[in-house]
Amino acid sequence: MIHTDVVIVGAGPCGLFQVFELGLLGLKAEVIDSIPKPGGQCAELYPDKPIYDIPAIPVCTGEELTNSLLTQIEPFHCAMHLGEEVTTVKRQDDDSFFVETNTGKHFVAKAVVIAGGVGSFQPRPLRVPDAELYEDRTLHYRVRDAQEFHGKEIVILGGGDSALDWVLELVGKAGHVTLVHRRDEYRAAPASVAKMRSLVAEGKVELIEHAKAVSISGAEGRMRSITIQVKGGEADGERAVEVPADHVLVFFGLSPKLGPIADWGLDINRKTINVDTERFETSEPGIYAVGDINFYPGKKKLILCGFHEAALAAFAIKQRLEPDKKVHVQYTTTSPIMHQRLGLPD
Ligand code: FAD
Repeated sequence: MIHTDVVIVGAGPCGLFQVFELGLLGLKAEVIDSIPKPGGQCAELYPDKPIYDIPAIPVCTGEELTNSLLTQIEPFHCAMHLGEEVTTVKRQDDDSFFVETNTGKHFVAKAVVIAGGVGSFQPRPLRVPDAELYEDRTLHYRVRDAQEFHGKEIVILGGGDSALDWVLELVGKAGHVTLVHRRDEYRAAPASVAKMRSLVAEGKVELIEHAKAVSISGAEGRMRSITIQVKGGEADGERAVEVPADHVLVFFGLSPKLGPIADWGLDINRKTINVDTERFETSEPGIYAVGDINFYPGKKKLILCGFHEAALAAFAIKQRLEPDKKVHVQYTTTSPIMHQRLGLPD
């Protein structure tokens, strides 16, 4: 059981900046995100694209913004629990919150900030009959233990970085690697694509393009083969190929889903959470929501708006935890206590 002042659900830019604003006020936070890296949409959807509307930063990429935020929160030594989805947020008798993740990690926090963006990123599933019977046994959306693929017939579906990285990682270790992609253009880094193509030319990797998986053969969760439909084949323009497979790795990218947040008893407005604009508190006192996930009249889904919301939510949380004290605004330029919290020399 991890005890903390605040649990932040989501390590997107607003969740990260929330750590900073809480830290300045002397509050400790733990951050949980369902994807294995921090940065939310900036890291997952547009790491290389330039952002031009972060105040005082004329231009930075999604990845650079994430890295700067991580540097900015370093003084607060906040623990990050990545690759874990928050499944439960429950108020306890003493008004603290019990928070649980899908890996069974438990937290007790005095307040919760939901910075869940457009929801929890989930792998896009392979849509073939009975796919769920194989899931996590021989059909994988993420790799937990690469050793189990060694010496095996592996089929990898997708054309992004994850698909290509795993082709390059498993070649020579797996018994045989086949890459199946629906096009002949790739979203993956050009260097990875070039390397994959040279492995194909050397006969070390099999490549099937303009193709999609249509069915799985096997029994009791053990796979035997996967049938691939390839365009540009016989008379009707398509042909089916049966590829032997012990394991199939699917990397079709991630799509956001509001997910468990919808079950926490909050006042939800379509896929967003209603908050007030003074504290950014939800309908449940002690649970706050900042960034893309919240809604109020005039809401704009912009990073800079989320940063403002995080600042006000931090003040509200401080006031909630110390109701008898007035929470004063202090300037980072001149406040000795803030300098101390930032780990600056006297
Ligand atoms: P997100 O970045 O969405 O992060 C939320 C995180 O919460 C995710 O990582 C998710 O996995 C996690 N999460 C959700 N539910 C759970 C759960 N139950 N358990 C664990 N984790 C959970 N904005 C700008 O201001 N300027 C721009 O130029 C700009 N360009 C953009 C370009 C593109 C292509 C896109 C898609 C967006 C752009 N945006 C831009 C929007 C901006 O990225 C978002 O406003 C911002 O990412 C919102 O930050 P956030 O922290 O609220 O949420």
